[in-house]
Amino acid sequence: MDKENITTAIFGSKEMRHSAPTETLPKHKMSPEIAYQIVKDETYPQTQPRLNLATFVTTYMDDYGTRLMNESIAINYIDETEYPRVAVMSGRCINIIANLWHSPEESEWKTGAPGIGSSEACMLGGVAAWLRWRKRRKDAGKPYDKPNLVMSSAYQVVWEKFCQLWQIEMRTVPLTHEHITLDPKQALAMCDENTICIVPIAGVTWTGMNDDIEALDHELDQYNRRTGYEIPIHVDAASGGFILPFLQPETRWDFRLKWVKSISTSGHKYGLVYPGLGWVVWRDKSYLPEEMSFSVNYLGASISQVGLNFSRPAAQILGQYYNFIRLGFEGYKEIHQTSMEVAKYCHEEIGKMECFRNYAKRLENPLFIWYMNPEYDRKARWTLYDLQDKLMQKGWMVPAYTMPKSIEDMVVMRIVVRQGMSRDMADMLLADIRSAVEELEKLAYPTSSRLSYEKREKSLKGRVYTH
Ligand SMILES: *Cc1c(COP(=O)(O)O)cnc(C)c1O
Repeated sequence: MDKENITTAIFGSKEMRHSAPTETLPKHKMSPEIAYQIVKDETYPQTQPRLNLATFVTTYMDDYGTRLMNESIAINYIDETEYPRVAVMSGRCINIIANLWHSPEESEWKTGAPGIGSSEACMLGGVAAWLRWRKRRKDAGKPYDKPNLVMSSAYQVVWEKFCQLWQIEMRTVPLTHEHITLDPKQALAMCDENTICIVPIAGVTWTGMNDDIEALDHELDQYNRRTGYEIPIHVDAASGGFILPFLQPETRWDFRLKWVKSISTSGHKYGLVYPGLGWVVWRDKSYLPEEMSFSVNYLGASISQVGLNFSRPAAQILGQYYNFIRLGFEGYKEIHQTSMEVAKYCHEEIGKMECFRNYAKRLENPLFIWYMNPEYDRKARWTLYDLQDKLMQKGWMVPAYTMPKSIEDMVVMRIVVRQGMSRDMADMLLADIRSAVEELEKLAYPTSSRLSYEKREKSLKGRVYTH
């Protein structure tokens, strides 16, 4: 073969005839074009991000938002002195979000922090609640070595991490077919003097539903009055934080409620920014323990900085602020309303199919789950996992999974509708679902997933669905 030189085509190069490095740093260099091609092609066969209906995270931003973020990819948020305007922009975002959530705080800069996602934001909200509880206990001369946290068993995994890392006992109210969201009475029955906070969820990852935070606040108020405790609420509003203010402005779930002391959300979910952004806001600065924050002064403005990470990309913050001023309240509302209508349409159409049953009658967020009609299920030769595979062949990612502990016998499928999913695309998806079901119904023998499902079935008794 001829010696390679600058005119050698990428796919004529020797790198394309060898496996890519997996163990050690390669000794020699390769040209950037070839390296680029290899890395790019590694992800080539994956789902198109916008056909990925499994994720909550933004897969579409308009051209200017995308350009702005690409252009700021080199900016480190923590370099306050070099890029002071980024901190100011972050402070403005926190103000805007706090006001969307009816913050009562009157100071010029509301108390909050950006995070890499809701996970970091939840951690910060949780740590603050733990430190406040600990201080109260210390001041009262009481032991503070057995903190616990109460939430529903449909928690997102970050809460398990939080409880593990900070050694906080996690008490979960099991979801049942009767109580498909957090039951306030059961939650309070699990509380005691060592409860650092209760964490209801707005936009439960598993189901798309909202915990009834107003009812919880009401019950908690009586409970706290009766016991003398001061158990606060941290709302995990990863999805709901950017849906409720626009689509259900009357619903009281935020700082309008007395015991809601902090709220977290994902800027990269319905905040409409590409991945890498979360937000946490406290009711006012008295709920953010001093040891968690440090102040930065810029032109007389004091911006408090809080976070687990030190360095972090600034592009997402620019993207968030861009969305805020480009879309405004009206723009966010229109986009989420579209997602909601498309989700409702899919929900309705899926509900019409004989083989399926929807889990919830009404959608609160632009996502929903469904399961197999139990009567149909008894005779079926396939499962939702087979449907997931079929849809994947068409490029769609629609996940099938089992529900959390206590109703883990239930297999469901979920669709998350986000900006970038139109009615036309929904029609394509529904057509693909219908033709996949048609094909599965023609099977002469049960699929392997069906066989293992039935084996598992025998070990689980009394499967009754009530809705
Ligand atoms: C997505 C999600 C999280 C985690 O958020 P990230 O932004 O992915 O870190 C936490 N809680 C709930 C309810 C979620 O839906």
